[in-house]
Amino acid sequence: MTEEDNRLNIILIIISSLLLIIASTILKGNKILYIISYLIVGIEIIIKALKNLLKGHIIEENFLMTVATIGAILIGEYTEAVAVMLLYQIGELIEDYASDNTRKQIKNLMDIKPEYANVLNNNKWEKKKPEEVKIKDIVLIKPGEKVPLDGKIIKGETLLDMKALTGESLPKKVCVGDNILNGCINQNKAIEIEVSNTYKESTVSKILNLVENANNKKATKEKFITKFAKIYTPIVVVLALLLAILPPLITNQSWHSWIYKSLSFLVVSCPCALVISVPLSFFVGIGLSAKNGILVKGSNHLEDLSKVSTCIFDKTGTLTEGVFKPQKIESINLEEKEVTKYASYAEYYSNHPIAKCIKDTYQYKIDKTKIKEFEELPGLGIKAKIEDKTILIGNDKLMEKYHITYHKVKEAGTILYIAMNNKYEGYMILDDKIKEDTTKAIRKLQENYQIKAIMLTGDIEEIASSVSKKLNIDKYYASLLPNNKVEIINKLKKETINNIIFVGDGINDAPALVTADIGIAMGGIGSDAAIEAADIVIMTDNLSKIITALEIAKKTLKIAKENIFLAITIKLIILLLTVIGITSMWLAVFADVGVSILAIGNSLRLLKYKDKEENL
Ligand code: ADP
Ligand code: MG
Repeated sequence: MTEEDNRLNIILIIISSLLLIIASTILKGNKILYIISYLIVGIEIIIKALKNLLKGHIIEENFLMTVATIGAILIGEYTEAVAVMLLYQIGELIEDYASDNTRKQIKNLMDIKPEYANVLNNNKWEKKKPEEVKIKDIVLIKPGEKVPLDGKIIKGETLLDMKALTGESLPKKVCVGDNILNGCINQNKAIEIEVSNTYKESTVSKILNLVENANNKKATKEKFITKFAKIYTPIVVVLALLLAILPPLITNQSWHSWIYKSLSFLVVSCPCALVISVPLSFFVGIGLSAKNGILVKGSNHLEDLSKVSTCIFDKTGTLTEGVFKPQKIESINLEEKEVTKYASYAEYYSNHPIAKCIKDTYQYKIDKTKIKEFEELPGLGIKAKIEDKTILIGNDKLMEKYHITYHKVKEAGTILYIAMNNKYEGYMILDDKIKEDTTKAIRKLQENYQIKAIMLTGDIEEIASSVSKKLNIDKYYASLLPNNKVEIINKLKKETINNIIFVGDGINDAPALVTADIGIAMGGIGSDAAIEAADIVIMTDNLSKIITALEIAKKTLKIAKENIFLAITIKLIILLLTVIGITSMWLAVFADVGVSILAIGNSLRLLKYKDKEENL
């Protein structure tokens, strides 16, 4: 409903109420005045009911209200008829307002939409809408301003407040060369960026789209409610008919009182409160998650999260930081510098944490034209042609795949073997650290949620075993290729009734993310493939966010259940009271509106949820 419609409705409600008061006091039951005030407030509903009737929808709330109130007029209960319509309209207004308001609140929570961008145009800064900015444009971001588009810093350094985007409260230091995401706030110094994505493809757009579309994927609780309403309403309508006819026929009691009861039944049969309250609680749950840096792609995933028994983790980049430090290099023929240079060239196009480490550590200037061929073999390593040399760099399985004679290294750390033109040239040992909050997050999963932690890795047995001992992982599988990971998840899925989560960093584990009941991608919006494949995207690298997600899911579900319970119980009570003859028709409408408002209020309680200190 637009605001104008609302204003008109309020005016009609006021006029009708005044007429009702006059009709029932000064003019002592003037029927014409009653009818006028009834039509003023009810005509809209009657028209809607007729329209729906022509379309073949009989049992819907406008129709029920129309029949109930016209029925009341026919048996001479004029005041009731007007009061019911009035309350019904007031209720609609309040519900509308409350759910709009909730949606607004959620949108405000996610205050990430940039309003403008300062774009360089003919040596002058010009304010443009973010949607109008093109890739490669230069944009100035002053302190206090929101970063309007994704881009790479070309001038200046500053601290970025990422809270709105990731839920992360510590600001992040960035400087020239860093890629930054829109939606965060520049805290202290002016910077210039070169835009890398159009607004439509930008982080903010993607997040807002995800959250807005999340409502399309319905949780079974929501589906239950729609189904319930479909059964409940006709049943109550039939009961209403029986109530109007049977008791007077059998017991000789007055028709008037039973028809009145029957009309009240019709009023109670409106499923409004039920139908709005449950989706709303899920919507609040999704909004709240987003505020905490957790993007949930549908209410069904929130519901699934509340029934998890196993959590499977990818190792590199998920349990560990994925920031490798080269510990040792052994070269057979070449200079060490040559080995690292070829390694940097071979890894140039890879996004794997190992590749990042090698490129960041040695920082060679790469002449891209020298890279003639590049092939990434997931779970094995890289095969590349650099000028006229074929380089293989990766694990033992890669060496075996290409029948390279090499020495198996038995030292702690991730071992990278290097071969050139099919000849073994040496190895590097890289060391990765376990993330700071990993131990705590895994312990909480196990202790507070009785969830089993399982680790999958493409790395060798020795590393897998040492990492899982340190973390007290329940079970691990090592030396896996990406498709082995999928096989294991499928096998575990067959063995467990409850849901299985797979948590990965999105680098080469999209298939696993899709296979698990719930795929969680860590580390933000960086990899498009991961966002496509995952059901839940966690914007930061913190594993503890999984605990936060579980907590929010549990709370959301609890509130949804409370709302269902509340709505059904109150309806039943009113039905019962009606049969006994204690309530009146207008009280029935009042109860329905009341339940809706209570349910909305109850859902909003979710917003009070604060991520516990220890989860941050
Ligand atoms: P995890 O399952 O622990 O996340 P991956 O499946 O990403 O690990 O990788 C498994 C192994 O494959 C790595 O330990 C490494 O030996 C090798 N590997 C994968 N990608 C690369 C790469 N870009 N360069 C070198 N080795 C790689
Ligand atoms: Mg990985």
